[in-house]
Amino acid sequence: MSDCLFCKFVSGEFATTKVFENDDFIIIRDINPQAANHFLAIPKKHYKLLADMTEEDSLTLGRILKTIPTLEDLLGLNGGYRLVINQGDDAGQTVHHLHIHILSGQKMGWNPAG
Ligand code: AMP
Ligand code: ZN
Repeated sequence: MSDCLFCKFVSGEFATTKVFENDDFIIIRDINPQAANHFLAIPKKHYKLLADMTEEDSLTLGRILKTIPTLEDLLGLNGGYRLVINQGDDAGQTVHHLHIHILSGQKMGWNPAG
C-alpha cells in the first residue's frame, strides 16, 4: 500500500529503528508508549483486519505469535506481558495495517475501554 506508514517502515522508505526483523515481520517501539515497554509487531504483508487474512497470512501470524515469547530479554517479557490487536474504529485502530501491540515491563490494570 503506497500510503501506508507501516508498509513504509517495512520497506525502509521511512526510517525507523527495527528492534527485531525476520522474514515475517518487524518489531518497532511505539512512538506513544502506553506501558513501560510498548512495541509493535508488524507483519511485512499489508492487510487491515484479521477478517482480511488469507490462510497463508494466518500461518504467518501464528509464527509471529510463536516468535514473540522467544524475544523475552529484548522485549522485557519476563514479568508477563500483554498483546493487543485493535480492529476497526470502535477499537480505536488508527493505522490500517494489522499490528500487534506488545506491552510489558509493569503491572497492568484492566481497562478494556481505555
Ligand atoms: P492502533 O491505534 O492500534 O492502530 O495503533 C497504532 C499505533 O501506532 C499507536 O499506538 C501509535 O502510537 C503508533 N504509531 C503511530 N505512528 C508511529 C510512528 N511513526 N512510529 C511508531 N509508532 C507509531
Ligand atoms: Zn501497510
